[in-house]
Amino acid sequence: MRRNGTGSRESSRAPDEILWWDNRIRVEVRREKRKGARLLFRADGTLCINAPEETDIRLVLRRRRRWLGRRMAELAESASEKGKCDDKLLLRGRWHLLKQSDVCRLPIDGEDEVCYSTPAALSDLLKRELRRDLERLTDHYGRRMDVRYNRIAIRKQRSRWGSCSSNRNLNFNLIMIALPTPLCEYVVIHEVAHLAERGHSGGFWKLVAQHCSDYEERERKLQQYWYLIEGNRVWQTLRESSRSSRERS
Ligand SMILES: [Zn+2]
Repeated sequence: MRRNGTGSRESSRAPDEILWWDNRIRVEVRREKRKGARLLFRADGTLCINAPEETDIRLVLRRRRRWLGRRMAELAESASEKGKCDDKLLLRGRWHLLKQSDVCRLPIDGEDEVCYSTPAALSDLLKRELRRDLERLTDHYGRRMDVRYNRIAIRKQRSRWGSCSSNRNLNFNLIMIALPTPLCEYVVIHEVAHLAERGHSGGFWKLVAQHCSDYEERERKLQQYWYLIEGNRVWQTLRESSRSSRERS
């Protein structure tokens, strides 16, 4: 799930970059048939704007300046949060202390510590946990949307939470286990909805909204979590260690 509108093109009128106080923000504009403009920050910090051909992007940016300011503040906040938790593991939306041990064990009943033997073993355990969550959620929403999938794979992906292939395989990112349940659920809803509607058409978002009315809010939070996880030292180590085992998924 990465926002790549297809069949759209860049506009020559729109800026490539805007300066927001001290921050340079890269801007990508996609022209499409739609009502009004849609603004969204991608995981790499690029501001993506989907807008009709005739929309003046500079005007959109001016009108949305308060929203932009809020989003920039949130991104800065999640960046500083990141520093405080560098030695901890983010798991289902909560930070946990890590303890070296003979075995790997996840916290039960409000415990704080995650025990681990090696990063690779912990990564395998997290993958099994995530697979269980994903199978449950995918079956649930697959039934509700009346769609079938072929298989689920959990991969180490650099730029997306999940994807849906043309042969109906669902790929999910291992870092989804770091997300609070509602956000993990949204990624599943998004990808399962792609089994019914391939692109990000109006029909696609309508279907998503039927199963997740606050999806825009969840997209926004996903963004913050992406930054948190990308910058977290523990998650970096885990993602490196899962590289060798990803094809077994
Ligand atoms: Zn998508």
